[in-house]
Amino acid sequence: MQAGNAALRGGIDLGGTKIQAAIVSPAGEVSGEARRPTPTEGGPEDVCAAMAEALAEAAEAAGVPTDSLAGIGVGSPGDTNELTGEVAEASNLPGWTGSFPMGQTLSDALGATVRVGNDVDVATEAEFKLGAGKPYDSLLGVFWGTGVGGGLILDGKRWTGRGAAGEIGHVVVERGGARCPCGRKGCMEAYAGRKAMEAKAREEHEKGTKTKLFEIMEERGRDRLTSGIWERALEHDDELAEHLVHRALKALGAGVASAVNLLDVEAVIIGGGLGVRFGEPYVEKIAKHMHPHLFVDERPPAMHVAQLGDLGGAIGASLLFDE
Ligand SMILES: [Zn+2]
Repeated sequence: MQAGNAALRGGIDLGGTKIQAAIVSPAGEVSGEARRPTPTEGGPEDVCAAMAEALAEAAEAAGVPTDSLAGIGVGSPGDTNELTGEVAEASNLPGWTGSFPMGQTLSDALGATVRVGNDVDVATEAEFKLGAGKPYDSLLGVFWGTGVGGGLILDGKRWTGRGAAGEIGHVVVERGGARCPCGRKGCMEAYAGRKAMEAKAREEHEKGTKTKLFEIMEERGRDRLTSGIWERALEHDDELAEHLVHRALKALGAGVASAVNLLDVEAVIIGGGLGVRFGEPYVEKIAKHMHPHLFVDERPPAMHVAQLGDLGGAIGASLLFDE
């Protein structure tokens, strides 16, 4: 059978800082890609326009018109409805207060069928089908970045619960503990999320704690502490950075081990901006911090870094057309 363009799919990963688009074959090969910064102003229409532009550019790079694609999958933050393509409560996107028909809007702009899934779920699925999770039937994806997202594969299938499963960032690691960006207290993300770590670093810096974190940020012309800046500060043996990363690792150890105690998955895949940047040595550190909390400690799960890296989200989104 001739595969042709009809077998190619589009994938869009909508993040809080960037939009990554890719044209992907059923085997997961990427033939064109493009990225755009996520708009910081405006509303859902502006975000969808930037997404459509990125996908059109990726399609041009692959040499295919967008309306010839077998479908376009989107991994989006917020409350995503796979049946209707509506996205609500995407609080890290500009002006996204109510529910917005993302699927229909993109479909009208690009002339192809669009399916919308949760960003972390689709990235976990990509690792399961094409990446570090291939050898396993059950796994937990932990995306350690701006926040801490989680995705689950149980018995070979994505587990989404009633739509909100996998929110491992909001597993409680300390009752009455640090304030989480979600507004609650003591969540794992309140210690391990990049955004929460940055807030804590700013607070300590303002109190007079010495750190190179903000000098490095200024040198690089950035306005936030990216994963690269944290890495650089650790290379300089910056004490505050070391302290806050250690605090994050302890929280990840407790939270991920608790999830493993509940689910007994075969493997844990660590992805996300910080997870991929820090890589293997830090996955080992997370495993070490998990160990005291594991109920069955002689048989810990396999631990891996996400293999598909930055493109995992877009590739995973294209897999929404595999089902
Ligand atoms: Zn929380």
